[in-house]
Amino acid sequence: MKEMILCKLGEVVLKGLNRRSFEDKLISNLRRRTAKCGSWRIYSKQSTIYVEPVNDSCDLAAAFDACRQVFGVIAVSRALPCEKNVQAIIETARTYLRAELSTAQSFKVESKRADKTFPLTSIQLSQQVGGALHQAFPNLTVNVHDPELTVFLEIRDDAAFVHGPAVPGAGGLPLGMGGTAVTLLSGGIDSPVSSWMMAKRGVTLEPVHFFSPPYTSEAAKEKVIELAQKLTPWCGRMRLQIVPFTEIQEEIRRKCPEDHFTLIMRRFMMRIAQRCADEAHAKAIITGECLGQVASQTMEALRCTEDAADLPVLRPLIGMDKEEIVRISRKIGTFDTSILPYEDCCTVFTPRHPKTKPHLDEVRDIEAALDMDGLCQRAMDGREFVRIKL
Ligand code: ATP
Ligand code: MG
Repeated sequence: MKEMILCKLGEVVLKGLNRRSFEDKLISNLRRRTAKCGSWRIYSKQSTIYVEPVNDSCDLAAAFDACRQVFGVIAVSRALPCEKNVQAIIETARTYLRAELSTAQSFKVESKRADKTFPLTSIQLSQQVGGALHQAFPNLTVNVHDPELTVFLEIRDDAAFVHGPAVPGAGGLPLGMGGTAVTLLSGGIDSPVSSWMMAKRGVTLEPVHFFSPPYTSEAAKEKVIELAQKLTPWCGRMRLQIVPFTEIQEEIRRKCPEDHFTLIMRRFMMRIAQRCADEAHAKAIITGECLGQVASQTMEALRCTEDAADLPVLRPLIGMDKEEIVRISRKIGTFDTSILPYEDCCTVFTPRHPKTKPHLDEVRDIEAALDMDGLCQRAMDGREFVRIKL
């Protein structure tokens, strides 16, 4: 019998009547993510999803890592099935978990019995297997309250299962269950993290990036493509929209007072994001804004920025410190790319004294000098679409 992967469901199990659709979504996400590691039979039973190799060419270690990056899974472990008799179970536990059993100091055995025809109760099975392992590994003491190692046994209809130790999964909700949102992806540290955080809540991402050649270089664009690529193990494949922003920025510089440059530029980003969202039937706009981080992220500035879009603006980083954001960025694997030193269109034409407490009426008056619709439309028409594959 072949070793397999067990994925423990997180909040999915709380979803009552929707549970079925959550589980189905999670299974199809797991299928897609493990496909490149071989052929798998994937099915759910009792709050657990089983990922079972179909043949010997399956890469179990790679699939295990892939499962850990699928939102909706809170813990992942490996398990080895064996015959449903006590001797076989003891022998399997002894060899399969040898490394863990020889190094742990305390342990316990926990059994679950789905097949009620099995001759021993769960408690009897735990006692017998626990006793045998205790004898085989003299380094171990039994500790039922706070053991270093828990050996899980499961008696199911088709076989008995011995579980290896569980490691944390990605948590959150299955991608696709939270609708779709446009995420504004710059080359910085923050926006890959804000994108990831909303994907963790089940939101499918439509990334949009603004670039301003020749002020921003080809390398800056490549960096954003690389960031999107690094998000795919978590967020799935994506279509990145790259929006030309040079004409808008030059026009702002020509016609608006310098202290309003950034703010008006950000309002254009919102308007275009809104158009991209409408086109993709997306229901929100995600940004990496964080209160007080820069002049354009005061409450007054955020108010002026989001006034330019009708959709809700989701800002998952709003109350976080930079260190917390950096920690997540390292964990999800985007940090090293984010710190590559390329310019962003936000740093082009940065005012020396940006307005930190802008007034909406004043901003609207200033904007009246611009051909809003024409500028947005030309930017939309000039978009480049990049497929980011899994
Ligand atoms: P980041 O680290 O994500 O670049 P930041 O702290 O540099 O953020 P800003 O430059 O003010 O802050 O940008 C705030 C948010 O606006 C970003 O997190 C991102 O969501 C969006 N944004 C900024 N520049 C761009 C861009 N060139 N393309 C798309 N979105 C952008
Ligand atoms: Mg930035």
